[in-house]
Amino acid sequence: MTVLDTLTKALAGGRVQVVDLTHTLDPDFPVIVLPAEFGQCARFRMDEVSAYDHRGPAWKWHNISMSEHTGTHFDAPIHWVTGRDVANGSTDAIDPAAFIGPVCVIDCSVGAAADEDYTLQPAEIEAWEAAHGPIPAGAWVLMRTDWSRRQGAEYLNLRADGAHSPGPSPNAVRALLDRGIIGFGTECVGTDAGQAAHFDPPYPAHAMLHGAGKYGLQCLKNLDKLPPTGAVLICPPLKIRGGTGSPLRVLALVEEIA
Ligand code: MN
Repeated sequence: MTVLDTLTKALAGGRVQVVDLTHTLDPDFPVIVLPAEFGQCARFRMDEVSAYDHRGPAWKWHNISMSEHTGTHFDAPIHWVTGRDVANGSTDAIDPAAFIGPVCVIDCSVGAAADEDYTLQPAEIEAWEAAHGPIPAGAWVLMRTDWSRRQGAEYLNLRADGAHSPGPSPNAVRALLDRGIIGFGTECVGTDAGQAAHFDPPYPAHAMLHGAGKYGLQCLKNLDKLPPTGAVLICPPLKIRGGTGSPLRVLALVEEIA
């Protein structure tokens, strides 16, 4: 049997499960809110074109609109000024091999439950590797916080001084880049912590990952259903010409180890 024969048989037989890491696109799902002087992202919107009626008797369909960065979505290198000159840095130009690969899940749920401004530190990455082995080059690394269980205003967690939500410290981003990861994902509305404007550098996940030609995923869910290592992530964004990101379906293949 070929590798792909083995995979499709394992999928059909249930030994490999497909886990959906995606929130439903819905007008009520929160999008990031920037200070008022900046442009704002649009929420998801759906308008009926016809519904088996005089506008189209046998068919139903919708027009949809949204920001590239609405809902569960992908960040391309050109999203950030540091990545503006990255070769093939837009969603239509990225090598599609980047959209499928091994995934490591670092469980920060205990820390994030105790501290909404929790930041991932290099020591936790090293502790994860001591338990599960080195993070392989080309891996996606996801930060589990269980933040996806929050709803409405609690999800953005905005206060007078901005958003309060967990994310990676600058040194953690450096450590992940040292491992040669391909991308980093979170359950929050952005790859950076809510207060990351005050970090050095500001927004380290955006600034350093995209500057290095790496990718981001945010608004993920169901990370608690993934093993720390051994799963495969599938995350192809829409092929938008010059796109800085895109809503997408994010799936993981998880093997049941007997
Ligand atoms: Mn984004």
